[in-house]
Amino acid sequence: MTERVLAGVPASPGIAFGRVRLLDAAGEVDRTVLDESDRPDAATRALDALAQSARELEELAVKLRAEGRTDEADILDAGTMMAEDPVLLEAVEQAVLTRGLSAASAILVEVESAATQLDMIGDPELAARAADVRSLARRASRLASGHRDHARRTTSGDAILVAADLGPADVIELDGDVRGIALAVGGVTGHAAIVARGLGLPMVVGLGDDVLTLNDGEPVIVDADRKMLIASPDGERIDAVREKIAAARDAHTRAMAGRSLPTVTRDGRAVRVLANAATPAEVRAALEAGADGVGLLRTELAFLEAKHWPTVAEHRRTLEPMLAQLRGLTATVRLLDFGGDKTPPFLKGVHGRGVELLLEDLEALESQLEAILETGEATELRVLIPMVTEPGQVRAVRATIEPIAARRGSRVPLVAAMVEVPAAAVMADRLAPEVGMFSIGTNDLTSFQLGIDRTRPGGSPAHHPAVLRLIAATVDAAHAAGIPVEVCGEAASSPLVMPLLVGLAVDELSVGAAAVAQVRAWVRALDFVGATTIARRALDAESAAEVELLARSLRALLDDAG
Ligand code: PEP
Ligand code: MG
Repeated sequence: MTERVLAGVPASPGIAFGRVRLLDAAGEVDRTVLDESDRPDAATRALDALAQSARELEELAVKLRAEGRTDEADILDAGTMMAEDPVLLEAVEQAVLTRGLSAASAILVEVESAATQLDMIGDPELAARAADVRSLARRASRLASGHRDHARRTTSGDAILVAADLGPADVIELDGDVRGIALAVGGVTGHAAIVARGLGLPMVVGLGDDVLTLNDGEPVIVDADRKMLIASPDGERIDAVREKIAAARDAHTRAMAGRSLPTVTRDGRAVRVLANAATPAEVRAALEAGADGVGLLRTELAFLEAKHWPTVAEHRRTLEPMLAQLRGLTATVRLLDFGGDKTPPFLKGVHGRGVELLLEDLEALESQLEAILETGEATELRVLIPMVTEPGQVRAVRATIEPIAARRGSRVPLVAAMVEVPAAAVMADRLAPEVGMFSIGTNDLTSFQLGIDRTRPGGSPAHHPAVLRLIAATVDAAHAAGIPVEVCGEAASSPLVMPLLVGLAVDELSVGAAAVAQVRAWVRALDFVGATTIARRALDAESAAEVELLARSLRALLDDAG
């Protein structure tokens, strides 16, 4: 077989190699009408299958709670409730008794109808629930048709689970030999993605139906870091990936062992390491890995399917489980960054991005601020403004926050600006007096500065001198005004770019939860003065390739650190 590459969307970071294990599909709806005489038995089988599913989900939830995984257990409770819902039970029973559907088909049809209704309400939380409900349908219909096994076990050894979509229970019940997940559809913020991140399983979603044509047992690489799946990789590539996986495992073990050591360079410069998060599971994983708090809480990911601006209650519901974990710690909550590839249905056709959109709808901004101030009360709260291009936008947000804080009797939080559009970096000296901190978003900054697509395989070269100059200008303007600078784009956890950021005197790095322990170890391996010398030379380089050569010695220090 020749190598094939499918592009997707990373939902849980990392790289994994194994053989395809196709998840048993729920089965097609069979429209054959049962004989009247067979219907009562079939109806009993359908109801028994739903009851058995409820019991299985309940048992799983108990197990998870015992392990302290309450978020995941809560998700399963929703499946149990649905399996016991009298309206659903009645509908399934009637589908068999009056329409003559088989037990499995009645479950599939009626549960799908409930899931579609949830989809149509337009609430992102309920839409995520729809995936959970469909997962219940798969489980119960398999039981009803006598297939007890969760997934076909035609493969043994390291497996990559391949499916159209998954519910959280499917992921939680995975065999211990599953190393990664590849889905045809699925969302980054779906519950399956949350659970996969919690388990540290690399996962790529949105691979399209092509992924379902892979053969059971076919070797594949799931590379979430490069947003792709490689089917039937050649021997050389497999060796390289195996080496990478083994090295990552060793490095992680070593880094976790040192997670409570301070993040100070060898010559004494402190660099705070915080985490990027969008889910409670990520916050928990980040804190376990020693993060100093959250440096970027992406709030828009929970609302990508929204049909209207989120209400105060909706914001509160998504923020509370994350901010409750951050009592006394830094919580940098970014205002909704809608627009571009993060445009929910209700904003389709609308132009603009981030703060620009919020300022066009002050009520939407007020709702979010109200919820942030309320749920973040016990944290070291920082409100981060996305896609800032001019100082007036910061003043407008501050003018909105102040009366809300006064009315609530809350402290006015620190207000920070994202520097992710070249305009903000160029205007950093004018922006700095208006804010308490800058957060550099290298993902967008690199893409806008170099005119390249940020989603292209291989990532964006934030080490290009044109990008490094913007970062240096931002840091210089911030420090002249006496405010700190964090970097929260992917570059903050890149072994090539991170040492240059430290050398340019960035104060804080905010990285994915899974990278926290590693980046903390890297800070301790660096020498600030040495990194500064090389970073300053990189500003005079002509190309990203030249910077790569210059930064080699710094990267070697990180490699030695693990
Ligand atoms: C960035 O642009 O680097 C950033 C952190 O924001 P996001 O990735 O959410 O656009
Ligand atoms: Mg951005």
